[in-house]
Amino acid sequence: MNHDHLPASIIDFEAHHVTSVADAGERKTKVTDLALLCATCHRLLHIIARGRAWDDR
Ligand SMILES: [Zn+2]
Ligand SMILES: [Zn+2]
Repeated sequence: MNHDHLPASIIDFEAHHVTSVADAGERKTKVTDLALLCATCHRLLHIIARGRAWDDR
């Protein structure tokens, strides 16, 4: 993941569930179910995943 949009010193990484809790069901979350993203990338990823317009908050 390219984080050129943020200075490295202020990147705040968040864990994103690649596999949704609903899809995962009863099994426990594994490391492979998570992706570390900065807050900006995380936000964008969710916006894209929902198929919403960029200006939809
Ligand atoms: Zn990023
Ligand atoms: Zn997420």
